[in-house]
Amino acid sequence: MHRTDSPPCRVCGLTARLDPLYSFGEQPVAGYLEIDQTAARRAARFPLEIGICGSCGLVQQMHDAARELLIERVYSRYHATYSASQGVSTYSGRFVARAVAEANATAGDRVIEIGSNDGAMLRLLIGRGLKPVGFEPSGKLNAEAGTTGADIVEDYFTSAAAATYRERFAAAKLVVSRHTLEHAFDPLDFVRGMQRALAPDGLAVVEVPYLPTQLVNNHFESMTFQHVCFFTAGALQRLFEAAGLTVVDLALVAMDGGSIVVFARHLGSARAPAVDAFTAVEETLHLQDGAGFSEFFGRVDRLRRDGRSQLAQLAASGQRVIAYGAGSKGQSLLNLLDLGPDVIPFVRDDTVQGGQRWIPGTGTPVLPGDAQEVRNPDIVLISAPTHLRELVDRDPFNGQALYVATTPSWHFVPRGRI
Ligand SMILES: [Zn+2]
Repeated sequence: MHRTDSPPCRVCGLTARLDPLYSFGEQPVAGYLEIDQTAARRAARFPLEIGICGSCGLVQQMHDAARELLIERVYSRYHATYSASQGVSTYSGRFVARAVAEANATAGDRVIEIGSNDGAMLRLLIGRGLKPVGFEPSGKLNAEAGTTGADIVEDYFTSAAAATYRERFAAAKLVVSRHTLEHAFDPLDFVRGMQRALAPDGLAVVEVPYLPTQLVNNHFESMTFQHVCFFTAGALQRLFEAAGLTVVDLALVAMDGGSIVVFARHLGSARAPAVDAFTAVEETLHLQDGAGFSEFFGRVDRLRRDGRSQLAQLAASGQRVIAYGAGSKGQSLLNLLDLGPDVIPFVRDDTVQGGQRWIPGTGTPVLPGDAQEVRNPDIVLISAPTHLRELVDRDPFNGQALYVATTPSWHFVPRGRI
């Protein structure tokens, strides 16, 4: 399996190389919509291949070619996600409460949030009397977050950014970050930055998607370019250790198809029993090496062959097929399953505003819920898989549509029985 031309591991560097696990072929970048259909169809494509490090076991993208486009089209104009749903806001409140309590942070303490988005979590921290500093590269989001009164650094979080932070501010009693580390092109430098910014008794609390539960829930659509690394507890421990931090505790949460919360302190801190328990389970599942992933990728490969033909047959028989959800994951799903407008002519998305948009790659038009074309479909592919429950509870098609879900596996959901 080892290839001599494979790129080095992002954590181990040149001392360890990556073994390929699966290739999705050439794929477009997801995370933005085009305002021009021709441009959408001609979106640049890059090799999407997932590999695992033979030394530290970190599953990661094998190529970096999409990086510039991601920065230019996606991250510099990211849309608000934190405040978008009630479930996420409620969860953010609980996350902050636990992080602040575990860190023993008290009024006046400095707290860093990496990936501060529209400032929703900064507000919660200010509400507790803390002095948060947000790191966020998107100027559009920072314009919204500016009203919180928190200090905001409009930049990516790196060890250099952490050094600059320390020239301006006191060391942080707490560093929090939700769903940002998996996007970092240089995860080791990101964690080194946290180590640099943390007070000697400080705590870092970092939430990322948890690869084993993502596999169980069939979330292959999250394996697009926006996610650089895919974390097991074992790989997280090795990454943090390499950056000078000890993972002292771990917790599982149900967010985004299954996520893990890492609690880390400076090297040498005592570890909770949960940390070893995670490692033991992952060893049993053979997730330290390629063996534990073959069943998942085999399933994904079959779905990429069969999913399209099933829906194409239904479309050919006169059924009106649409997809629901044009966010990043929906865009990936349609591209990874090669579901172009010949099979799925429209994607409904109730959050898009202002003018016609198209999905990069497939070139599928995105329409709001009040558009005639997407009001009464026969079949709806749920292209927002992590919001399956929320969507199903609302059932915007009033029991008239047959849903197709990709999680926890590809299945049709009988009318009114979701
Ligand atoms: Zn490695």
